[in-house]
Amino acid sequence: MKTIIEPFRIKAVEPLRMTTREEREGILRDAHFNVFNIRSRDVLIDLLTDSGTGAMSSLQWAAIMRGDESYAGAESFFRFRDVVRDLTGFDHILPTHQGRAAERILFELVGGPRKIVPNNNHFDTTRANIEHSGAEAVDLPIAEAADPANRHPFKGNMDVAKLEALVARVGADRIPLCMVTVTNNSAGGQPVSLENLRAVRAVCDRHGIPLFLDACRFAENAFFIKRRERGYQERGIRDIVREMFELADGATISAKKDGLVNIGGILLIRDEALAQRADALLILTEGFVTYGGLAGRDLEAMAQGLEEVVLEDYLAYRIRSTEYLGERLLRIGYQIVEPPGGHAIYIDAGGLLPRIPPAQFPGQALVCALYRAAGIRSVEVGSVMFGGKDTPPPLELVRLAIPRRVYTQSHIDYVVEAAAEVYARRAELRGLRMTHEPPFLRHFTATFEELA
Ligand SMILES: *Cc1c(COP(=O)(O)O)cnc(C)c1O
Repeated sequence: MKTIIEPFRIKAVEPLRMTTREEREGILRDAHFNVFNIRSRDVLIDLLTDSGTGAMSSLQWAAIMRGDESYAGAESFFRFRDVVRDLTGFDHILPTHQGRAAERILFELVGGPRKIVPNNNHFDTTRANIEHSGAEAVDLPIAEAADPANRHPFKGNMDVAKLEALVARVGADRIPLCMVTVTNNSAGGQPVSLENLRAVRAVCDRHGIPLFLDACRFAENAFFIKRRERGYQERGIRDIVREMFELADGATISAKKDGLVNIGGILLIRDEALAQRADALLILTEGFVTYGGLAGRDLEAMAQGLEEVVLEDYLAYRIRSTEYLGERLLRIGYQIVEPPGGHAIYIDAGGLLPRIPPAQFPGQALVCALYRAAGIRSVEVGSVMFGGKDTPPPLELVRLAIPRRVYTQSHIDYVVEAAAEVYARRAELRGLRMTHEPPFLRHFTATFEELA
């Protein structure tokens, strides 16, 4: 088989600034060993997140000039609405400025004290919005998700038996809706099968519970279904996407992922009465229903991005480039969350650095080492992000998220070379001590010092 190449050529370039190891040493120290404090100009390859960091196409930039900035009834809204309607089958389509704005509106309407919202795994903003409403967010992943080496093809699935047990225990009246996140970001960007979605739907139907998707990476999930789920090899991506959305009563979407834009979100709601209440809240805090806190040009870029993200050549390249990084890291000797997810590779830093205990943040030590070695910015997903609570996180991970259409294979090869260098010197890595601990979402602003 031939190499799967980037299915685009480059028209505009953005220079990268090289730094020396000595410079990076000083930058890391000035940032108090927290890479969120590093300026982007001091980063060579930025794998902090795949959210809003993608490159737009020439057609998206062209669409931006077409943006209709009318307050009400802008043409750009109708173009956006028609694309989303065609893709998802939903009629009621609310634009929002990000995914979390859609979450905030939804959970202000259906959340509240004593309510419980299950999900395969809640993303952190989803959980925060549910808890902010007074409700409780419950994760129900399948058991395989806890084992990084387990190669379950749909490791993002929800445990349907656990959902059934939760409903039996608390009663359906306390569950305003059930969510499923596709792909399952917090579990390593792992996909959810249509079989699992249908099984969750059946439980929801039996108990009259609406099913919502957190559909940020709907296209990547659909591609995994086409590749891995029996009976879908010959089906088109659009077809599979439609089937996913038809199983749902609504969805929240961050368009900063599979919308292929730098800003934007979507709220989809089937129920007419609920949709009308959502419209009212949208107007209250985001903007009128035909722009929802976005400029007309943003809606145009989103409409075009949603057309491009379901193209099979794009998805083949996208999923393969993430897998390529994962395979190379495995070959070096790293344990990663297997199989490679859609948008990121997660390294098991706890297993790599057994002499650094969780209290000394092995993930953060690896993040610092990758920056020092080569100016690569990654992010810790372990005791820095989730520690300081009653239950410590099960794994000490480092995430390398791949921005969409931004880096070429040689950039990724460079990351692999740096990772090999760090691997060879892993015995020299040092743990850290947290010198400032913010009360919540501490990973963004915590400061550290390195231990001797
Ligand atoms: C990014 C993300 C969100 C939140 O979207 P924002 O646009 O960042 O507000 C919600 N859920 C998942 C699964 C995400 O990846």
